[in-house]
Amino acid sequence: MHLTDEQLEELKRLLIEQRSTIIERLENQVKDVEDVVFSGGDELDRGGLEGSRLLRYRISDRETKLLKKINNILVKIEDGTYGICEICGAEIPFERLKARPVTSMCIKCKELEEEKEDG
Ligand SMILES: [Zn+2]
Repeated sequence: MHLTDEQLEELKRLLIEQRSTIIERLENQVKDVEDVVFSGGDELDRGGLEGSRLLRYRISDRETKLLKKINNILVKIEDGTYGICEICGAEIPFERLKARPVTSMCIKCKELEEEKEDG
């Protein structure tokens, strides 16, 4: 393991913080949608409502995925397998993890992956 206990603790704290932020945002979104639904009458612009709901669900979906990812990473931290590149098994430097705690790939593999995505 290339990370010290202190570094792991710091990353864990960052991840838990990020998780709380997402949960808070998701809860606020649900509340917003309910406010619109329950305060609006039949005269409400349905197109606009549907559009904004779709957008919200799309955001929620992305955040829910991130939430799952964070949970997986917290398990990995407990297992002692965190900070290892999923693709090549290389150790991911602490600085990179600190900048982006949810990362699961080293810079090299991430760049290769992005090249692939670009076509
Ligand atoms: Zn790699």
